[in-house]
Amino acid sequence: KAKNAEQPEFIQAVTEVLTSLEPVIEAHPEYEAASLLERIVEPERVVMFRVPWVDDNGKVQVNRGFRVQFNSAIGPYKGGLRLHPSVNLGIIKFLGFEQIFKNSLTTLPMGGGKGGCDFDPKGKSDMEVMRFCQSFMTELARHIGADTDVPAGDIGTGAREIGYMFGQYKRLKDVFEGVLTGKGLAFGGSLARTEATGYGLVYITDEHLSCHDDSFEGKTVTVHGSGNVAIYATQKAQELGATVVTLSDSTGWIYDPAGIDVALVKQIKEVERGRISEYAQRREGVEYHEGRYDWSVACDIALPCASQNTLDIDDAKRLVANGVKIVAEGANMPTTLEATEYLQEQGVVFLPGKAANAGGVAVSGLEMSQNSERLSWTFEEVDAKLKSIMKSIYHAADDAAKEFGQEGNYVAGANIAGFQKVAAAMLAQGVC
Ligand code: NDP
Repeated sequence: KAKNAEQPEFIQAVTEVLTSLEPVIEAHPEYEAASLLERIVEPERVVMFRVPWVDDNGKVQVNRGFRVQFNSAIGPYKGGLRLHPSVNLGIIKFLGFEQIFKNSLTTLPMGGGKGGCDFDPKGKSDMEVMRFCQSFMTELARHIGADTDVPAGDIGTGAREIGYMFGQYKRLKDVFEGVLTGKGLAFGGSLARTEATGYGLVYITDEHLSCHDDSFEGKTVTVHGSGNVAIYATQKAQELGATVVTLSDSTGWIYDPAGIDVALVKQIKEVERGRISEYAQRREGVEYHEGRYDWSVACDIALPCASQNTLDIDDAKRLVANGVKIVAEGANMPTTLEATEYLQEQGVVFLPGKAANAGGVAVSGLEMSQNSERLSWTFEEVDAKLKSIMKSIYHAADDAAKEFGQEGNYVAGANIAGFQKVAAAMLAQGVC
């Protein structure tokens, strides 16, 4: 902890994982002898770099870029690039650390990594975003490659940013390869990648429900966020018969008792790059509330899909008081440790992000496969594979929890199941 004192999110993520792993370490003395835990919490490599770019007024702006290559035991580093003013080394390390176990859970050969920059794409012109992306990639290109490290999108990095970064990589390296995922369909992207994280979140929740003779039909769902994950989770949950009644952004939230109009949200957020408040202005019967969403709307299922630590203990108490049955994390670590423990104690089914939002990276893995064979699969093919991966993640977490005497604890189950494959690979590869 002392070494990483300035990195509270990283400490939070490591604490959760290491607590879950205690019974595994007890059962495997060889892990301790090989200092496996000491090794797994230390990134293999961290790159920090200057990102200078010229704004529309001709002024030079400077941001700080990061790539954390955390663990390559089971495959090339893989994980998104976050563009948000809050980005710092601790946040990228927490995300990279989580990614190791998430990627392992997908069963695909991908190691863990994450990157990003404290650049804010909001309010920038297209040309400013392009100049930033080109500068960012000019340094990042030295460290990545289709068989080394394959970044993807995350908060603030969508199809536009990935396109500009891919173009710059190609120019610098003179090679057309699947070095990024989340690419446009015209240059190697995969169908269903845009939908994958949100759909995957709903598929894993649906698997839990169907194993308990239940379904989304007739359920009320609240969603936090209104970005990529939130939009497609909303779409799929409603397709399966639920009513999604909230969405939010960092300035406010909406309550739409009739159920979210997904086409309208897509128009506002994806086409116009607008704010969620505009939804309330354009649709009858919708309330808009300024400020942070406090999880006060009654629901059966809550899907936090915005950012880390956006569901705290007071929010958890409100959710329980209002009868929530399931919380499934679309975002990375949106629930604080205290809130997670409280929800579990109260008997709420809690599906942690590293299992529940793994659909995005799973389809990124499938994009890498398609690029390697220079083929494109149909939407239905990718979607079917996504569904099957999400089911297998649910059962891997469920089985691991049962094996270690913690039935129903999907946090422990996901951590243990994700860890075991990585641990076996690290042991087999010797001290490295
Ligand atoms: P987007 O940038 O598309 O959307 C993020 C949404 O969350 C926006 O509505 C944003 O509002 C809101 N938000 C961000 N920070 C806060 C905050 N502190 N409080 C309230 N709202 C906030 O990102 P994604 O949908 O891609 O990602 C959302 C989460 O899912 C992240 O944790 C990401 O790491 C995780 N994730 C994403 C995957 C993907 O495939 N996209 C894969 C796996 C995980 P505003 O516009 O006001 O900033």
